[in-house]
Amino acid sequence: MGNDSDTRVEPLRKPRKCPECGRPSTRENYPFCSDRCRQIDLSRWLTGSYAIPVAEDESKPGGEEQ
Ligand SMILES: [Zn+2]
Repeated sequence: MGNDSDTRVEPLRKPRKCPECGRPSTRENYPFCSDRCRQIDLSRWLTGSYAIPVAEDESKPGGEEQ
């Protein structure tokens, strides 16, 4: 009777905020809150890989040119 130490139940996995909108993530779409946010992140990642401007330095450290 009256086990104060057992009244506090901590979750096994701490809730993580969705990197897209900041809402608590769900178990199905972890670490995102929904499938929509997951798709957003995925599409951004894919398009980002193409959109990233390649900064080519003429002076490469090490001189690894032919
Ligand atoms: Zn979200």
